[in-house]
Amino acid sequence: MATDTRKELVVMKFGGTSVAGAEQLKRAARRIVAARDAGHDVVAVLSARGKTTDELVEAAREISECPDPREMDMLLSTGERISCALCAMAIKDLGHKAISLTGSQAGIVTDSSHTKARIIDVRADRIREALSEDAIVLVAGFQGVSTESRDVTTLGRGGSDTTAVALAAALGGDLCEIYTDVAGVFSADPRIVPEARKLPVVSYDEMLEMAASGAKVLQLRSVEYARNHEVRIHCRSSSDDGPGTLVVSEQETLERPLVTAVTHSSDEARVTLTGVRDEPGVAGRIFGALAEANVNVDVIIQNEPVSHGDGADLSFTVEGDDMATAVDVIEGLGAAKGVETNDEIGKVSIVGAGMRSHPGVAAKVFKTLGDEKINIEMISTSPIKISCVIDAGRVPDAVKALHAAFELGEGAIHEEDPTGEHRPRVGPDDEGAQDAA
Ligand code: ADP
Ligand code: ASP
Ligand code: MG
Repeated sequence: MATDTRKELVVMKFGGTSVAGAEQLKRAARRIVAARDAGHDVVAVLSARGKTTDELVEAAREISECPDPREMDMLLSTGERISCALCAMAIKDLGHKAISLTGSQAGIVTDSSHTKARIIDVRADRIREALSEDAIVLVAGFQGVSTESRDVTTLGRGGSDTTAVALAAALGGDLCEIYTDVAGVFSADPRIVPEARKLPVVSYDEMLEMAASGAKVLQLRSVEYARNHEVRIHCRSSSDDGPGTLVVSEQETLERPLVTAVTHSSDEARVTLTGVRDEPGVAGRIFGALAEANVNVDVIIQNEPVSHGDGADLSFTVEGDDMATAVDVIEGLGAAKGVETNDEIGKVSIVGAGMRSHPGVAAKVFKTLGDEKINIEMISTSPIKISCVIDAGRVPDAVKALHAAFELGEGAIHEEDPTGEHRPRVGPDDEGAQDAA
């Protein structure tokens, strides 16, 4: 029986900062080659260099107020192609075989929804062929092709993470390495909270809530994809060999701290509808039409009319970029007397699998923000998350205050505490407070 001497396949993804300048790009190439030298088949997914994607978005806006989505994707997909071609050159100079592929050449098939496409299939024959010929394969992240429209699509900001996880799943890899400009996933964005703690392990569920509430270190869809296809994510620094963070199933996480992380987002907008008809079916029509227009709605609040005959008030939040579309959709429906918007809002959230059945967490969040004189405008909860919509300008203060209040920094280490007996306390003043969710 023939023995295969090859080690398992690794998929390595390098983010924009990690390939920004010539030196960083060559360093990424050396790291890729080292994995190949260690005997692995290697597929590397690269992002656009530095701020390239932002610059391409800006270039489009300088030309057109409302850029055509198909052409936008043609434009945006170029950034990652540049990185891959350059990296293939660097790898060849290091004496290895390499081939760069666009998302479409790599077999990333998506639906046709431009700038937010979803991967629906990965036809990786060409990658397998190149690997069998001993080449290192570089795949342009964040893009695919719609077989329906035959057009190039992109996967939404941060989408190279999802390309990498989808390739790991399709090629039978059970681990996807995401190399980035921080040492892993932290208890808060280390740019806002320098004393944030690097988390050794995070569960898919917690990471999903973190990504959904603004921790852009991993794109939300990449975490969804990883959970659905049982791909473990290893998020680590591209500039050193540190141990990083593993994102894995809950059974594999020993730690169950009450609160794992504080997350934030500053690019949200709120749409408020006044005088909404108070009758069955109205909310279904409003949110159905928003979904049809591919607008992702986050926090929703509706109040019953105060007196009979009045309309209801309904507020919801969307990504800032979707605000104009949301308003067009609502006005088109004619379901409300008035529509108001506010794009100066932000959101701060706490996430933790341990809060599932623990009373008092919500009360502590609200008290902490109150002590900081931060007004809470909207609240939403899930079993493992509490989010507050607040003024965008107060987001950094809120993140710092919550991180300190829940003692999440270095020193609050629970690694030797798999029983969770030494979790940070919710606080003596929280006895009997209502449940987190
Ligand atoms: P890349 O270009 O490698 O994809 P991103 O900019 O998309 O990197 O994501 C990394 C950034 O995510 C970090 O620089 C950090 O500021 C930010 N970030 C936000 N929240 C967190 C968190 N909880 N842990 C780590 N990084 C975070
Ligand atoms: N270059 C794209 C972005 O900046 C995709 C990515 O980096 O993952 O969003
Ligand atoms: Mg990213």
